[in-house]
Amino acid sequence: MSPTLFNSVSFRRRFHYSGSDLGAVWTRKETRFRLWAPLADEVQVVFYKEGLGGHPAGRWSLKKSRQGTWARALEGNWAGVYYTYCVRHADRIAEVMDPYAKAVGANGVRAMVVDLAKTNPPGWARDRKPAFKQPTDAIIYELHVRDATIHLSSGAKNKGKFLGLTERGLPRGAGLDHLRELGITHLHLLPAFDYASVDETKLNKPQYNWGYDPLNYNVPEGSYATDPFHGEVRIREFKQMVQALHRAGIRVVMDVVYNHTYHGGESHFHQIVPGYYHRQDAKGGFANGSGCGNEVASDRSMVRKMMVDSLVYWAREYHVDGFRFDLMGLHDLDTMKEIRRALDRVDKSILLYGEGWTGGDSPLPFKKRAMKTNVRALDRIAAFSDTIRDGIKGAVMEHAKGGFVQGEAGFEETIKSGVVASVKHPQVAWPKGDDWRGPWAVEPWRCITYNSCHDNHALWDKLALTAKGAPESLRLRMNKLAAAIVLTSQGISFLHAGEEFARGKKLIENSYNKPDSINAIDWRRKEKYRDLLLYYRGLISLRKALPELRLSSADEIRRSLAFLPDTPKGVVAFVIAGAKRSVAVIYNASAKTQSVFLPDAHWRVLVDDQQAGVKRLRSVRGGEVAVPPVSALVLGDE
Ligand code: CA
Repeated sequence: MSPTLFNSVSFRRRFHYSGSDLGAVWTRKETRFRLWAPLADEVQVVFYKEGLGGHPAGRWSLKKSRQGTWARALEGNWAGVYYTYCVRHADRIAEVMDPYAKAVGANGVRAMVVDLAKTNPPGWARDRKPAFKQPTDAIIYELHVRDATIHLSSGAKNKGKFLGLTERGLPRGAGLDHLRELGITHLHLLPAFDYASVDETKLNKPQYNWGYDPLNYNVPEGSYATDPFHGEVRIREFKQMVQALHRAGIRVVMDVVYNHTYHGGESHFHQIVPGYYHRQDAKGGFANGSGCGNEVASDRSMVRKMMVDSLVYWAREYHVDGFRFDLMGLHDLDTMKEIRRALDRVDKSILLYGEGWTGGDSPLPFKKRAMKTNVRALDRIAAFSDTIRDGIKGAVMEHAKGGFVQGEAGFEETIKSGVVASVKHPQVAWPKGDDWRGPWAVEPWRCITYNSCHDNHALWDKLALTAKGAPESLRLRMNKLAAAIVLTSQGISFLHAGEEFARGKKLIENSYNKPDSINAIDWRRKEKYRDLLLYYRGLISLRKALPELRLSSADEIRRSLAFLPDTPKGVVAFVIAGAKRSVAVIYNASAKTQSVFLPDAHWRVLVDDQQAGVKRLRSVRGGEVAVPPVSALVLGDE
């Protein structure tokens, strides 16, 4: 089939199905099956007793129904039965997964009919989201489920599992207690939906993956469950994790990867409606804007619907509080708008953000892509600021090159652009003709401020690569300064798990399939780097205490935030004059103590090169203030 057909209005009119009953809808009396397969000649549902192996226990033909769907209701209580679809196009028959599968057996090759109420942990109906007012209040912490507790030092019972993140009172304050004591508002989990690359039947064998290889979009990953073979277990345990995090005052963000599928031609999507779910290149093959062999055609109506339905399902059924879109630049703007509208109907406080770029070129025209420089068309959807990321510690692609905190020259304006969350500001000199590094965010809630994430080198590794001769004490000062920049800049703060205790990945940047020895969090570092950890905790409590650091609009930023003039090279300094108080922030990345002239006031020092927090460390009047080399100074005047 040609992309022209799938993109045509007539195809959409004839075959767009808007019902909410795709998949297997269970009741005690019957289960209704409905599959969208508009070009198929025959569809059967095939039952199995097990999620893997064995022989079919029954087989029923579905009838051609409305708008390209095939449907059948089967009487009886079918909860717990596993099923596939056999889809025939001419003489080619494929046995495939249900794209709307809500439960699956091991390795996600068969769906399971599920009574979802039975998967709810005790108290689930009373589960409440922690309070959250506005996107710029978010302090996000990006963590991989397995990394969190797989290391021996975590002391967790359920190592590497969803349940590992429910355990309290662990030695070394590992896991959930750590997140709580750190004070983050949102835990962002790397892919936790069912992905393909880990064999769930061989969990005793060492295996690892970040999980950017989507298999079943609406099902939790089986290797993170204590039992991947029984479809209900992973569902219940995922809910237990959300419940425990909510009880600890932390919201949950899922990393979603709708931009590509693990398989291309072999995927169930392609077998059910050949060519529909993926974009085609000029030769009719799989377009590869993801760099992973295919890209999903978000702009086709039934793909858009699938994405929206999936997100709404995670938000409603699992109480998920936010989504991070992998390669969001491959999603079209209209789909992102529809996603925002649909999730607003569930809960307006759901946080949405993504990578405003692609992994390669795409047939989707640039102006339609949800790229960083196009997100101004979107309401309450943010994009990562690679500009501030690279400005703080050096470009991710140039391993040996440092940035502002290593004392490299010429990064002051980049840091200033990050301080104002990439919104227009009269004192920031934007690079001419460079939209990408310009005031792309327009409003601060569109800007995710960070210095590192799972991709590329961890901050601690980047410092090791770029500040080679520097003693550890100096690299720790750089780390503190990098954290201070993120947590005192406008926009949405984002931290990579473990950066608060100098977590490295043995200098390996793309650790997506590397063993636990590279990726796991070693909780002993919490004690070893306690001083750095306390500094992060202090900065987080400071950010939460001072609304001046997380202003909600660009107008407010322009009105109240002023950079101090004539600061020396390697120094960025600004004062935010709020209604209640003024806050002064100075970053000194240079190798010597620098004097900065502050306006006259009763300043209380809250952050210096050693400590950070909301308590007064000492007082200073205005005038010349000395800022030690490679450090931040934050003062408040109340
Ligand atoms: Ca899996």
